[in-house]
Amino acid sequence: MRSILLFCGYFILLQGFCRAQPFVLPKLAYGYGEYAPYIDAQTMEIHLTKHHQAYVNNLNKAVKGSPFEALSLEALLTSEKALQVEAIRNNAGGHYNHTLFWEILAPKAQQSILTEPLAQRIMATFGSMDSLKKELSKAAMSRFGSGWAWLILSPDSKLIVASTPNQDNPIMPLVSERGIPILGIDVWEHAYYLNYQNRRADYFNAVWELINWGVVSKKFQEAKENKLLIEKQPSTHKKRNR
Ligand code: MN
Repeated sequence: MRSILLFCGYFILLQGFCRAQPFVLPKLAYGYGEYAPYIDAQTMEIHLTKHHQAYVNNLNKAVKGSPFEALSLEALLTSEKALQVEAIRNNAGGHYNHTLFWEILAPKAQQSILTEPLAQRIMATFGSMDSLKKELSKAAMSRFGSGWAWLILSPDSKLIVASTPNQDNPIMPLVSERGIPILGIDVWEHAYYLNYQNRRADYFNAVWELINWGVVSKKFQEAKENKLLIEKQPSTHKKRNR
């Protein structure tokens, strides 16, 4: 434990790979009601303050007193040892995924636009925004049960539409399609049930209207410089099937 703390003390300023404080719930950039009519205020509030909060609380509980206590979120998500602890895998994933989700959503009037490098890459990869939407929608609709649909930048720098079950995500070494997510769509029923009941497709079309492409563009630029993927090669672990 002492060596981990010393190690973290050394790296804390350089890498952001270690941390001293418990994980905390992020704040939304906008009021709960500002995402309407695409997502209603009650869904936003419950999703953040009950569901996401539970992931944060359970993650703090899971790491407390464990060898993983001082690790950052990214360090946990890329540690095969930490991910063997089911509570860390589920709740670190839940915290990371939701934090990204809130960042990329904005009310229509507050959205910033897609920048040229990402626009060009989407055109080159998918042909059009509409084709990207169709592929993401397919990933969201075909995810059986709960999970996420993603747009990721792969280690060989390709834009890929992917999907993971539960709270897994593409930076985990155990998923089949790895990459840095620049956009994630939550397709758990808790993300839409109050307003859309079982109509996941309607929810997908609605949430598409909330995507802040300026932020996704920024994440694309950051992903290109992210060393995480180069350092962590895909493992031989089997994908969890549920
Ligand atoms: Mn959720």
